[in-house]
Amino acid sequence: MPPPQPTPKKAVPAPDYKTLKAQWEAAKRKKDAEDATKKAKEKQEQQQQPTAELNSDEIKLRELRRAALEGRRKKAYKSRWLWTAGFWVWMLAVHLVGIGYFTSGFLLTRLQLDDKSLCEVPPTAGEGDILPAWSGKGTVEGGCWYPKTFERAVVVLIDALRYDFTVPVDDNAAFHNAFTFMYETAVKEPNKAFLRPFIADPPTSTLQRLKGLTTGTLPTFIDVGSSFSGTAIEEDNLLMQMKEAGKRVVHLGDDTWDSLFPGYFEGNLSRPYDSFNVWDLHTVDNGVIEHIFPLMEKKGQWDLLIGHLLGVDHAGHRYGPDHPEMTKKLRQMDGFVRDLAEKIDDKTVLIVMGDHGMDSKGDHGGESDDEVQAALWMYSPKGIFGRTKPDFATPPATADIRPVNQIDLVPTVALMLGIPIPFNNLGRPIEEVFAGPRGNSWNNLAAAERVTAAGIKQYQASYYAARGMAEEAVSTPGSPADLWNKAEGLVSKGNWVAVYSAYAEYQKETLARCKSLWAQFNIRNMILGIAIMGFGVLTLLVYVSKGAEDDEAVDDPELDDAEKSLEIMGVIPDSELPAADVLERKLVAAAFLGAVPGLIGGALHAYLKGTDDYYRGAAMAALTSIATVGVSLYEIKETLVTLLPSTLWGWMAAVFTLSQSIGFASNSYTIWEDSILMFFSTTFGFVTALSALRIQSLPDRYMAIYHSVLFVVLGRLASSSKLCREEQMPYCTSTYYASSTSSTSALWQLAIPFAVSLILPTIIKAYLQPTRSYEGLAPAWIGYVFRTGLFMSALYWVLDAADNGDWIPNLPDKTLKNLSVYNAQMVLGLAFVAGTTAFMWAPPCVSIVTSASKATPTRAQVAILGYGNAHGARYLLLPLNFLVSLILLSKPMGGGALALLFWQILSLVEIVDLNSLSSTPIGPVMLAILGSFHFFKTGHQAVLSTIQWDSAFIPLFTVRYPWSPMAVALNTFAGQILATVCLPLLVLWKASPKQKGLLGDISRKLGVFVAYFAVESLATMAWAGHLRRHLMLYRVFMPRFATAAVVLIVVDLVGLLVGLAGVRVNTVAIGEVFGWAE
Ligand SMILES: [Zn+2]
Repeated sequence: MPPPQPTPKKAVPAPDYKTLKAQWEAAKRKKDAEDATKKAKEKQEQQQQPTAELNSDEIKLRELRRAALEGRRKKAYKSRWLWTAGFWVWMLAVHLVGIGYFTSGFLLTRLQLDDKSLCEVPPTAGEGDILPAWSGKGTVEGGCWYPKTFERAVVVLIDALRYDFTVPVDDNAAFHNAFTFMYETAVKEPNKAFLRPFIADPPTSTLQRLKGLTTGTLPTFIDVGSSFSGTAIEEDNLLMQMKEAGKRVVHLGDDTWDSLFPGYFEGNLSRPYDSFNVWDLHTVDNGVIEHIFPLMEKKGQWDLLIGHLLGVDHAGHRYGPDHPEMTKKLRQMDGFVRDLAEKIDDKTVLIVMGDHGMDSKGDHGGESDDEVQAALWMYSPKGIFGRTKPDFATPPATADIRPVNQIDLVPTVALMLGIPIPFNNLGRPIEEVFAGPRGNSWNNLAAAERVTAAGIKQYQASYYAARGMAEEAVSTPGSPADLWNKAEGLVSKGNWVAVYSAYAEYQKETLARCKSLWAQFNIRNMILGIAIMGFGVLTLLVYVSKGAEDDEAVDDPELDDAEKSLEIMGVIPDSELPAADVLERKLVAAAFLGAVPGLIGGALHAYLKGTDDYYRGAAMAALTSIATVGVSLYEIKETLVTLLPSTLWGWMAAVFTLSQSIGFASNSYTIWEDSILMFFSTTFGFVTALSALRIQSLPDRYMAIYHSVLFVVLGRLASSSKLCREEQMPYCTSTYYASSTSSTSALWQLAIPFAVSLILPTIIKAYLQPTRSYEGLAPAWIGYVFRTGLFMSALYWVLDAADNGDWIPNLPDKTLKNLSVYNAQMVLGLAFVAGTTAFMWAPPCVSIVTSASKATPTRAQVAILGYGNAHGARYLLLPLNFLVSLILLSKPMGGGALALLFWQILSLVEIVDLNSLSSTPIGPVMLAILGSFHFFKTGHQAVLSTIQWDSAFIPLFTVRYPWSPMAVALNTFAGQILATVCLPLLVLWKASPKQKGLLGDISRKLGVFVAYFAVESLATMAWAGHLRRHLMLYRVFMPRFATAAVVLIVVDLVGLLVGLAGVRVNTVAIGEVFGWAE
């Protein structure tokens, strides 16, 4: 493609407000004067009356009145805008309360108990013992509940160490066969070491895993969201027990530990490091390695030494597993563990483990096999580990064989170190540790299993008591109580093999019961949440259909003229000006009036009943508020009947939205959502192409067909960007990154942003030229500033690739990273700071040209270039600012997809205009579908692991609040955000300065747009609630609901803070020049 030449324009300096306004007014006065003279002449001719020449005083008076009127109209507009914004704030509040309520019903699972285990009081107290009394029994010195094996432990946590990274695999993948030491020792010296798969309970985030690995219990899902900042663990846990026993704990590495266990660690020896800088592969690891070896010489100063390394995890996030950096990292870990093992003495046990795995792109968070399968290795030169069967000698070849549950580490470590097992533990002892070197210490195994099981039983009793529930009767065969009694009955018989497996059976069954018990939901809260969302959607739909007729822009120039002259004469009083009687004002007032009794009633109910459920006040307020708003809408004679679609387009919008909602009931529909959205947009393109055939004007007809075809082609093109989710395999090939096991871009993909910077500004220009709107600030802004921003963000990805691939080996460390970050900051500064300023102050994209009229050369003719699209062309500058930033933050392939999205939106706007679809809901619905579609095309899926956390480090070196989460949000929801910012274009495109009712129209279009996302939230909510027992709940339905909920809030916020605010700025700017139409 040849580089586009900026069309040589006559050097017209961008006109500023004053000159533009002066030019416009001069031209207008001239026209008015001409008209007046003409009219006067006509009158004179008709009625033969004296000339009604206007004297100069009269003109002045009229000017003053006109100015006063303009002022009133401006004021009225601003107040109307505020009421509209108020309505949207209310809508946002309704959505927040609805989503919050539903989620609270869903996530409320496990009751946390405050009980702590005590060393002197084993749960088996008073019952016959399996082991003879050992010296120091019931003390930490000898072992509280079981004879102590080790004095000290070194726990090395290699974040995201997947099981297959540690065992031989017959392939050449970068992540295989690099970390061999642990496997080798387990094979060569089975008494000194063992290696087993270590299975995490989802969600597979480090924070959640650390809780499980120290308390021995299952996660409460409420914590997933707090992944960015953890809060202290208050439940009984290993570290608490260590501290209670007067032991010293030292921690090195990932600072998540610090937030979970504040004040637990020896301050002078511990070294926490920032955990979220996924860009940085080495700082944390080097810090741990540097500080751990000196500590190995100071064994008297600690009892538990924790080293948490993050390099493997970060290599996964940054590059994906199949990358040379991963090989390097795993080799480094291999050497590190090798060196560390040499320093371990007989009194110390070394535990190396992963907290979770990583998916094929190096991310985690969900519950796929790759994400939950970590590795566990224990080592002691003492040689005490055993195998109960000869086949167990070799570590399992895959993680499916003989896996250990991660919570099993808790009783194992507690019993090894002689401390009590934390009260809430549900895990069981790991066999190798207690089986004895020959693998036949069945009495030890039985004793360890029994004391653990007794702890679980005690916990169960407390839990049921705290919840006020009855335990299952002993008589039910297979119930935990039944299994427990059977096991107890076996103890006296002395068959330890049988005793061991009987208690193991009890533990297994209890764990399963707990899982299903905690998967119980607060149905009332869920229903309340769904009801709030449902009524919210209904209200929104009624609001949208309301006014569609009575606000129909009346474009009758004569009526307009008459009205205007009446106004100028001062005949129309202020109170009859628009805005005095705004629908939104009524609604906002109703919303507040309705909320108050609900709030008071809900809170009072909670108070009287003695429940602490004051949140119910919020829910009640939401419901009563929706009810009063509904009533006031009804009073304006709106009924639900008006909601039924009456046109083909209305039906199409409804079918697209509703079939989605029904589809979310099926996991395969949810998994293949991107293809379905593609199908919808293609269908729309074909239907509009057909419908274009009815357009009378030939050029318009051809343009409409052209844009429809273009719309489909662009969508097809965008669909070549794919990031597959695990469930789509093997029917899907990821193209978003260099390969399916990488999270860096392929070399050829780096060309995409450059192509975008070359082509996109030219395309935008082509959309502005037919309305002669490439005027004012547009040529400079689009042709130069916007293009420069795009070029710089393309450059960013080259610098990034050069840094990743170490293209210039002799550069000083971090040179490229510095360059790329500063470059990115400049792009964002250009877009958000300069761009917003420019948008605030830019005059309309019009030029006023005075030329001699052809017919009567003596009379000057005034033409305003761009008049017909004055609103749209100027507003367009705002989405462009967002587009540059979103392209920067979306990786090369995503940037390309976003450019296509923007192009598609421009065509959509043309299609809506040419086919006269602006009074139907199809425009906003299609825009919403486009936004959702490009969520997938920018490398995302509705699963936690596709969040591109590394995007936080595009403009920053370290985690900074609130910027880091904002960068991640802009990256994740780029498609929906761009679509939302573009929404006002559906109304403003080709709107001239004199068009009325734009604000109300935009607010209703926003209503349709938000309704699409609200229906999606409602549907995913309802299905997740209904399918709460479904096997795929946490894998498919729950993440889809979470995505829909967050998207809805994002769309609400962007629509209000960017869309409506931008429209206000835009209207004021147009009004200042051309006078107020509203
Ligand atoms: Zn991670």
